[in-house]
Amino acid sequence: MKIQTKTALLFTMLTATILLFLSIAVYYFVGRFTSNDFLKRLELRTTLSAKIHFEQDETSADVFNQLRREYLEVLPHEREYILEYDPLQEKLITPIPADVNSRFIREIIQKGGQTAYSRHRKTDFAGVYYKDVTGDFIVVKSAVNEYGEDLIRNLRHVLAATFIGGLCVVFTVSLYFSRNTFRPVRHIVARARDISAHNLHLRINYSEGSDEISELAETFNNMLDRLETAFETQNNFISNASHELRTPLTAIIGEADIALSKPRSGEEYQQSLSAIIREAGKLHNLTSSLLSLAQSGFDGKKQEWSGVRIDEILFAVKETLDERDPNNQIIITMDDLPEDEDLLTVEGNENLLKLALSNVILNGCKYSHNQRVEVSLRFIDGAVAVTVVDHGIGIPQTELKHIYEPFFRASNSNPFEGYGVGLPLTKAIIKLHHGVIIVESEENKGTKVTLRLPSVAHLRAQSGREQVWIP
Ligand code: ADP
Repeated sequence: MKIQTKTALLFTMLTATILLFLSIAVYYFVGRFTSNDFLKRLELRTTLSAKIHFEQDETSADVFNQLRREYLEVLPHEREYILEYDPLQEKLITPIPADVNSRFIREIIQKGGQTAYSRHRKTDFAGVYYKDVTGDFIVVKSAVNEYGEDLIRNLRHVLAATFIGGLCVVFTVSLYFSRNTFRPVRHIVARARDISAHNLHLRINYSEGSDEISELAETFNNMLDRLETAFETQNNFISNASHELRTPLTAIIGEADIALSKPRSGEEYQQSLSAIIREAGKLHNLTSSLLSLAQSGFDGKKQEWSGVRIDEILFAVKETLDERDPNNQIIITMDDLPEDEDLLTVEGNENLLKLALSNVILNGCKYSHNQRVEVSLRFIDGAVAVTVVDHGIGIPQTELKHIYEPFFRASNSNPFEGYGVGLPLTKAIIKLHHGVIIVESEENKGTKVTLRLPSVAHLRAQSGREQVWIP
């Protein structure tokens, strides 16, 4: 069942309960009032009758009779019974009429001077015990409350009609309003149905506001923004990756074709093979980087996770890079380091962290033609911070925002070999370790890359307070 119908039904049920409660209350109180009113009138007529009947003074009796004729209308089916009673023998001298119940007579006698009431079928009875000089009497009056019965029947019909009619009106009105309320939601649903991978640029139109529907539409549009970016990035990535992989492959095939096109000297074959090895090496590097990039995108659980000392990693990276190119000038400084070694330890994967750090340091060396690259390690605000500063070509300001896109290479980086995969990979690794990377650069002056990773000791202290390190 749709929410709009459910809302309308719920509202109708609520109204039905209230209406039913009110109708029962009105019915009950009006019924009681009419019945009491009728009994009061019956009582009045009974006492008047007694007075008229037993009044010694004829003049007073005439006055009472006149009063009754003028001011008291005769009640429907009104009857009067006057029974003589012998209190000594405790029995009625006059026989009990067939319409009157003997139990009622007993009740009248027990009540003494007070009026007793009774109801048999639709007839009401009122009776009083009257002591007169001529003897003791029981005066009973009976009548049918026709007016009251009619009133109650009409009231019942009116209440039932109001109840049913009211519910129909409430259901129709609430259905109309809930349909109106949910119209924007139906619009969102219809629009969302139209959106697929081929038209991710479509958005939901909504009026700016602070209501839940606007919030929902805005959140949905934001999600579409992210999805569209992710789709585009993925598409770019695939086409760029295919292009980058095809270039060395084309070179390898071309070189082999040329070498095999005619018989050649041993030296020529050697040259061809060297070119093929060079291109195959590029292919190897690229596929390794791509594989690492793909792995770093995992949730980290597939990697071997342990406490890793960043200072030790830095020295290991420097050693490897020095072996690869002894001409580089990597200088590591570690000032103001804390004594607690846990503060320099990061929870993570050693190989991935080595890869991230060597990418950044290698870029510093590469893009500065092996000028000095200063690497410093510090502990700031619960994080291990590694800063890599070079004095190379820098990155043009307008291109800085693209450096984490896979295969992006700045316009001034053409003379340098590379694929544009290193920085996206580094960012993915740092993110996997709940860290941040900040790149500041000025063209022709140099670049400063800062990596901040949460230390184990800090994370432990935070976990006691059930918090996560926020970079
Ligand atoms: P590449 O293999 O091209 O170095 P990266 O992903 O490591 O790929 O870097 C992406 C781009 O960012 C580089 O092509 C380069 O234009 C720019 N870049 C990165 N680091 C530096 C740096 N230290 N100095 C100048 N430019 C840099």
